Amino acid sequence: MSFLFNRLRGMQDILPPEGDFWRKVESVMLSCAEFYGFSFIRIPILEFTELFDRSAGDSSDIVQKEMYTFSDKSGRSVTLRPEFTAGVLRAVVNELSGNTVFPLKLMYFGPCYRYEKPQVGRYREFFQFGLEIFGGSSNLADLEIILLANQILLELGIGDFNLEINAIGCSDCRQIYLDEIRSFFGRNRDSLCETCNNRLSTNPLRIFDCKNDDCKKISENAPHTIDFICENCKTKFETFKKFLDISNISYDINTRMVRGLDYYTNLVFEFILDFDGKPLTICGGGRYDGLSKSLGGPDLPATGCAFGIERLIKLLHDKEICQNIQNNGIVYVACIDEESKILAVDIVCKLRSLGIKSDYDLVDRGLKSQMRYANKMGYKYVAVIGQEEINSGVIGVKDMSSSEVISFKLSNFAEEFDKFLKN
Ligand code: ATP
Ligand code: MG
Repeated sequence: MSFLFNRLRGMQDILPPEGDFWRKVESVMLSCAEFYGFSFIRIPILEFTELFDRSAGDSSDIVQKEMYTFSDKSGRSVTLRPEFTAGVLRAVVNELSGNTVFPLKLMYFGPCYRYEKPQVGRYREFFQFGLEIFGGSSNLADLEIILLANQILLELGIGDFNLEINAIGCSDCRQIYLDEIRSFFGRNRDSLCETCNNRLSTNPLRIFDCKNDDCKKISENAPHTIDFICENCKTKFETFKKFLDISNISYDINTRMVRGLDYYTNLVFEFILDFDGKPLTICGGGRYDGLSKSLGGPDLPATGCAFGIERLIKLLHDKEICQNIQNNGIVYVACIDEESKILAVDIVCKLRSLGIKSDYDLVDRGLKSQMRYANKMGYKYVAVIGQEEINSGVIGVKDMSSSEVISFKLSNFAEEFDKFLKN
């Protein structure tokens, strides 16, 4: 239909029944995290631009080309969050006090904005569900994040993912590796794209993230992070692998995974799935012990991850797992005339107070079309009220799957129907 207004490119409207499906997925994720002891945090969508410049890193793709940045009415540069971690950390540091209890286990859910080229699994407005643990430097905190992410995927019915992990070194040994790859890529600079040539001086690690085929090929022969990390980082990585083994979590080591944000140190990981034949990350994360200090905050060890919800939802549709999560209505009360409408209101109010999902006609449809509507909306039963039912005091309820009709007394229908459901 032609209309004066269109959606912005790269943004989506999520209408019913898809919207309900989204909410179900969200609730599975939130309750799973709650079970693991995580609490919900809500932060603003808009932050000072500098927070993201300094956290994601000047040379990251996000800061270089993907941020929705503008001046507000007082001329301050503000940005729609491209991710949550920096904002969550800001909120936590702002509220830190002597009473803060560690570890702080936090979860979030909401939209993020990145000005990317829209394509499958890549939008300009997309939703993230994420987890952060503050105050724990033990790699058991990293394990907790991975265990929970793993559990969430399994609970949603997704089992065929690949977990990739890598150790990228601490602030000390990372420099040695940076020097090593700077000279490696320097020797190959003629074959690198223009952006990667710039990355050579700004942040050579970013070259691993380049989608250009030539750059990807050169990256394949680059030195491995693991060969350059210090003894302490190596030991930590070995213990971490043992934790994963004992938890029965299988993984691959990908020594070229660096992640798209500059703040990660030590451990990084990604849960990868097949999207139309191409591997795509559905959840990524890692440890970012240095971020708080680099933003002027206290020493605050931290680790976390974020899921891309659009990618998750697409997978659930591709795998036809959606039905399991849908929650349809129980009984639709169809009515034939004005007098039965009053009874329908009374009945539905009572049914709802007993916790039975029920509904009635709001748009003055005929009986046949009310039945069609109830069927389409997935109601299990339809009760019909008209003069005949009012006169006889008996109401027939049709089981929509078997077409069997069960009779109930009209006078205390809600209570009788509740008993029937419980039997
Ligand atoms: P990619 O390498 O795919 O660009 P990324 O490293 O930029 O991912 P993160 O910043 O780690 O992604 O964000 C966490 C998750 O959010 C990703 O694993 C992905 O599932 C999702 N995500 C990131 N960017 C987008 C986007 N533009 N549209 C939809 N989902 C996204
Ligand atoms: Mg990206």
